[in-house]
Amino acid sequence: MVLCSDFLTAWQQLRGGQINCQQALQLLRDEQGMLTLSLLDDEVCQRFFQLFPEGQELPPVVPLLLWRNCYYLGSPVALTPDLVQSICDRTLTQVKILPITEKSYRCWHHTRHVDLNRIGDAPLVNPLTGNHDAEDISETTELFLSKADDQIERIKTIIASALRNRASDIHLEPTTEGLQIRYRIDGVLRHVTKLPLEVSRRVIVALKVMASMDIADSRRPHDGRIGEEYLSGDGKALGMDMRVSTLPCVCGEKAVVRLLPRKNPFSTIDKLGFSPKVLPTYKTWLEQPQGLIIFTGPTGSGKTSTLYTSLQAIAKEHVNVVTVEDPVEYVLPHITQTQVNEAAGMTFAAGLRAILRQDPDIIMLGEIRDHETADTAVRAALTGHLVFTTLHTNDAVGAIPRLQDIGPDPSLVSDALLGVVAQRLVRRICPHCSEAYTATDTDLERLGLLPSQVNENPVLHRGRGCSQCLDSGYLGREAIVELLEVDEPIREIIHSGNIIDLHRYLRETDFMSFRQAAIEKVFAGVTSIDEVFRVLPRSALRVPSPQPQRLPPKLVAQLPG
Ligand SMILES: [Zn+2]
Repeated sequence: MVLCSDFLTAWQQLRGGQINCQQALQLLRDEQGMLTLSLLDDEVCQRFFQLFPEGQELPPVVPLLLWRNCYYLGSPVALTPDLVQSICDRTLTQVKILPITEKSYRCWHHTRHVDLNRIGDAPLVNPLTGNHDAEDISETTELFLSKADDQIERIKTIIASALRNRASDIHLEPTTEGLQIRYRIDGVLRHVTKLPLEVSRRVIVALKVMASMDIADSRRPHDGRIGEEYLSGDGKALGMDMRVSTLPCVCGEKAVVRLLPRKNPFSTIDKLGFSPKVLPTYKTWLEQPQGLIIFTGPTGSGKTSTLYTSLQAIAKEHVNVVTVEDPVEYVLPHITQTQVNEAAGMTFAAGLRAILRQDPDIIMLGEIRDHETADTAVRAALTGHLVFTTLHTNDAVGAIPRLQDIGPDPSLVSDALLGVVAQRLVRRICPHCSEAYTATDTDLERLGLLPSQVNENPVLHRGRGCSQCLDSGYLGREAIVELLEVDEPIREIIHSGNIIDLHRYLRETDFMSFRQAAIEKVFAGVTSIDEVFRVLPRSALRVPSPQPQRLPPKLVAQLPG
């Protein structure tokens, strides 16, 4: 058996006479050419590279051993005899080249060039091709973590790796086996690594220090922000706000880091995910001089993005746009944003009253909770203001009884309301590994469709999983939107207050329900049936009548076949 010590590199073991050269090479490199990076020796590396001044062209090589006046170098490419000779001439030693895998070379290159003191979001660059490197998120994070000297470096490594992989949140959760690290990517949590039990508590304490929290008090929840002194540059260069919160739990303290981009991340209305069928309708609402537009959806449904993107599109020089929010999540240009502060008496209702004295054209009201706010908002929408607000309901139709419960006069609501947008975010199928397949009867059944309603051999898509999408099959997200336009018949139904009539009316018309929007997105290859079922409420996918609903002729014509 080969002697192996956790603390000695292969070269040190070789020099200590514990193993021979052949055994040292076997420790460093397996039969497939994969390197064990932790057993490489920094001194061998240093000695080799100091012979080659900065900027001098060198083929991709990893110094493995220096033994009996011979450098053993690993390389992922075949070197010409001339190249090998030129290295010999420079080092004045013999040189032996051993093939190693490209992946080993890339990993070695990344750990050699990583700056653990800097939180950066630049993607890793493949040293062999110069292209952006698709990384194995767990593997790279663990590799970099193994290089970290202290807890602050560990946290910086974890944050940098989260930023490179488009994560929105980092969860650090104490368990009986250690500190579990997970990232939220495209709305779904993903296990990254587990830090050993002995460093668990120290990592959390270091994070609390970075966020200026009271480290002595671990029995209460805390919140804070990672201070500028820990960010690379002045922190502004990174364009990130990092908010930390802790929660005492049975195994210790759990911490969550939210990564919020400071620059506004909003695109254009066309890219939000509205179906082409309803997008023009939505755009006409935004052109109205007055009226009420309601956005609904749970936290994380992307309604804030839709709201902000829409406000940005219409916030021009000739209009006064004012918001009252809790909290102000992003600072937007050309918009006056105010923050609710209950203690100072700045409630949604007080804010709205103050805004109305400020000659507004467009008002955004973060939330309607009480009768007074609802009443003022509806009246503002009837007197020459375009008003945006949000409500917490399951779907678009649900907003109407909800608003009626809060209590403004139904006749005023029916006159003021332009429409309701309900939305959820679905993950997009990864374009790099998307593959087509023929829909099965089960697939159609899940969507509530009869084979007669679709083309023969209807084609759906799914992501196989690849390095670009971290093997999830999905890359990025977009909204799935249910749009309720208040037309004349709906106005009358709201006025009469009978919601059953509203459901009946919508069944008979070409209403873009969640179900319709989902079917459209699944057949367009944007997302998968599983994803639709993951995010939409079950009630939204139920076929609305005993007979499966007939697809609008336009959609059937669009189905790929
Ligand atoms: Zn993929």
